[in-house]
Amino acid sequence: MPLQLFNTETRALQTVTPLDGKKVRFYTCGPTVYDFAHIGNFRTFIFEDILRRAMKFFGYEVMQVMNLTDVDDKTIRGSVAKKMSLNDFTSQYTKAFFEDIKTLNIEQVEHYPAATDYIPQMIEMIEELIRKGVAYVGKDGSVYFAIGKFPGYGKLSHLSLDELKVGASEGRRSQDEYGKENIADFVLWKGYDPERDGEVYWESPFGKGRPGWHLECSVMARAILGDTIDIHAGGVDLMFPHHENEIAQSESCTGCCFSKLWVHAEHLLVDNKKMSKSLGNFYTLRDLLEKGYSGKVIRYMLMQTHYRTSLNFTFQGLEGAKAAISRINDFIIRLEEYQGPLGVQFADIESFTARAIEDFGKALADDLNVPEALAVLFEMIRAANGLCDAKKLSRHDAEAILEVVKKMDSVLGVGTFTHESVPAEVQKLVDERQHARAVRDWKRSDEIRDALAGLGYVVEDTPSGSRVKRL
Ligand code: AMP
Ligand code: ZN
Repeated sequence: MPLQLFNTETRALQTVTPLDGKKVRFYTCGPTVYDFAHIGNFRTFIFEDILRRAMKFFGYEVMQVMNLTDVDDKTIRGSVAKKMSLNDFTSQYTKAFFEDIKTLNIEQVEHYPAATDYIPQMIEMIEELIRKGVAYVGKDGSVYFAIGKFPGYGKLSHLSLDELKVGASEGRRSQDEYGKENIADFVLWKGYDPERDGEVYWESPFGKGRPGWHLECSVMARAILGDTIDIHAGGVDLMFPHHENEIAQSESCTGCCFSKLWVHAEHLLVDNKKMSKSLGNFYTLRDLLEKGYSGKVIRYMLMQTHYRTSLNFTFQGLEGAKAAISRINDFIIRLEEYQGPLGVQFADIESFTARAIEDFGKALADDLNVPEALAVLFEMIRAANGLCDAKKLSRHDAEAILEVVKKMDSVLGVGTFTHESVPAEVQKLVDERQHARAVRDWKRSDEIRDALAGLGYVVEDTPSGSRVKRL
């Protein structure tokens, strides 16, 4: 069952096949650390996390890079406004980003390069591009990429340069972000302006300045993953101009294909408009946590729609996600605690579990169809609950089904499994309390309950034993 993804460049499904046969080299444009990320950003990061986990589900090794954009127009503007050094300003948001991805159960990736750690390599790439005749120093002291010199320009976003008015007469764009309507040569090195840039600049052969945002990704991808990567992902707003510019820079420099596969996630919307800082229609993760929604509920809400379909944010949607998570977790608890009638065995258990995993895999293999994969999980829950009610399952059968749920959740990342979710020291206390209760040492049992509360856990006593949950 090969994993296939819709390649933006070819507009067709393409099988994921790592260049070196085993390890997928995966580049994902990371956060611009000038503020807290909003949940629209996290929709894209969760999509990338599910893709990463799905690749592992299918047996691939993954080497993923997610860069941190810690120097661009926005980070400089913020640090100058706050009268802070660029690093002091961005590091508070980098820290918040790592806290947030943990809350959302997004796996740590292999590399998180910060743009400011790669300035020498960026200067080298610009020199190479000048040498190759595709970049030039402008009258304003900035260095620009001449898009007319790169024949493939527009191949990702399917724009034809001939149909667009391009060129110096249109005015060069020195901003990091611009739209299709003002396509022009873009900046690789932005000359220093003391009023705009405060103390933020680096020395270079082209004078004081700092790298353009698009260049940063080309350089970090090449430095860590090599000239050709297997998959490049980001939100759909990055397709043009950011990814188009990455291709132009990288391929002009190396002469190799930059990325074999391009995947783009559609936006999270609010009232049919993109959730964004500039429109002010956004929620941060922290806003929603304060309203009492857990990280996993928010994760579920953001991942439940296919990544190539836009998703409208509503609180009703969050309530729906909460109900779905409860259904999954109630099922997990039921399986964990299930004793089963003695002497019973479900003859079809092997085909039951194998079919569930196969259908789940088929859904993921088909361009990461998470809604279909969730439907497979819920259908299995419905069927297995029926089998439990009819007392057709043994304890052993329940364990086999629990293993299937765990395997599915290795991709989804929304379930809570009692034994896994509890740190060893907490589990030790729970076991000790169980023993204290067994010998009717109520004083010790209460002491341990308090100790657990101190660690952030509450213990519940059920007919089948003690269960511990996060407070
Ligand atoms: P930024 O921090 O602005 O560089 O964006 C980080 C990631 O979030 C990029 O991959 C963007 O494409 C993505 N993104 C920004 N806004 C949204 C949105 N409303 N919905 C989904 N993804 C978004
Ligand atoms: Zn990028």
